[in-house]
Amino acid sequence: MMHHSTGHAKDSASDLAAKMFEDIRALSQDAAGVSRPAFSAKESETLAYLAARAHEAGLCVSEDAGKNLWFCLPEHDGAEHYTVIGSHVDSVPMGGNYDGLAGVIAGLLVLIEARRGRRQLTKPVKVLAMRGEESAWFGACYLGSKMLTGSLPAGEFNAAHKGDGRALHAHLEGLGIDTAPIAAQRPICDLSQIDAYLELHIEQGPLLVERNLPAAVVTGIRGNFRYRDIHCIGQAGHSGAVPRAYRHDPVLAFAELMHRLDGTWQHLLSTGQDLVLTSGVVGTDPSRHAIARIPDEIAFSLDVRSQDAETLDQMRDYLTGEMEDIARSRGVTFDVGAPVSVAPALMDHALVDALSQAMERVTGEAFKMASGGGHDAAVFAQAGVPSGMIFVRNRNGSHNPDEAMEIADFMVGVDILSAYMGAAS
Ligand SMILES: [Zn+2]
Repeated sequence: MMHHSTGHAKDSASDLAAKMFEDIRALSQDAAGVSRPAFSAKESETLAYLAARAHEAGLCVSEDAGKNLWFCLPEHDGAEHYTVIGSHVDSVPMGGNYDGLAGVIAGLLVLIEARRGRRQLTKPVKVLAMRGEESAWFGACYLGSKMLTGSLPAGEFNAAHKGDGRALHAHLEGLGIDTAPIAAQRPICDLSQIDAYLELHIEQGPLLVERNLPAAVVTGIRGNFRYRDIHCIGQAGHSGAVPRAYRHDPVLAFAELMHRLDGTWQHLLSTGQDLVLTSGVVGTDPSRHAIARIPDEIAFSLDVRSQDAETLDQMRDYLTGEMEDIARSRGVTFDVGAPVSVAPALMDHALVDALSQAMERVTGEAFKMASGGGHDAAVFAQAGVPSGMIFVRNRNGSHNPDEAMEIADFMVGVDILSAYMGAAS
């Protein structure tokens, strides 16, 4: 096969990317998909593999106090200020190979292409391969980036592993990590040296597939509030004998609530606001329910997300008001329990603009969207580091073995990062 020179350069970068993905898939293979548990030997093995490839390419490799790996060009080893391109190497149990890993390999390719002289970096770049982002292992997410930024809550420091029951700090100590600064919530990297944090990640929803676009610039990471277990309580009765006027049917109350929330959702979207909401768990009690019985109770969950904190506050108030109204008109009560919330994280405006310009140079068209899933970038943004993200098209969602990212789309994402890092600021 003959290639002209630029075509060949491109092929060899995408071949190298494909090889790294396949080698790491092989080393972390499980019964289905891959398993790279947070703070495990398998995670260390993945990092060691990446370090070997980085050494071969002539990059500098170093380990921080949280046993995360950093990669850079030799000339940037002592840089006082730099841009970080990072993501995580752990996965959920029997998950997909690209969630997290794509961002780390993308950063490595930006460096390798620069090292080979095919790209210019106008600013120093350090690539960060983090441990422990997925909540599947210790019940809490972003553990690696929270440790780096000094924001790991005590409850999470002591959280038990879902498999062996040992606390997170015991797992950290097992890896030889000094946990004293982490327990004291002191950052274990110098945040003042980081000019910006960039992360490439596979999209976990269907938007880019639907829109037929290879990549997108992320505007913000949605926060949420969730009620795990709301109970709406009415009154049981015979389905044939109780006339409508005398019913206190919690299922109809729930249906009315969801219908009203859906209307408000549509209204907020039409006024340009960002919102998604889901009731993923709904049910009457199987030990009491029957076809011919008006149920006395329905239990349901509610998950409301937006990248705008004000929209979340509005929805919280609106939800309370609507429940009170429906409770009055239908003679039912709502018992909501305590909500769990996560604050949204906006990406830095200047970075969103600059990444959009880079995307336009690479693909001819910039596209921006919100992130529905959470990412380490949210932790850096909340620690005050200007943050930006690139999404790459991916079929079948994530956290499952069927994740499907095309290497060609991945290379578009890499090119956007390289184009951004090569642009004069
Ligand atoms: Zn991820």
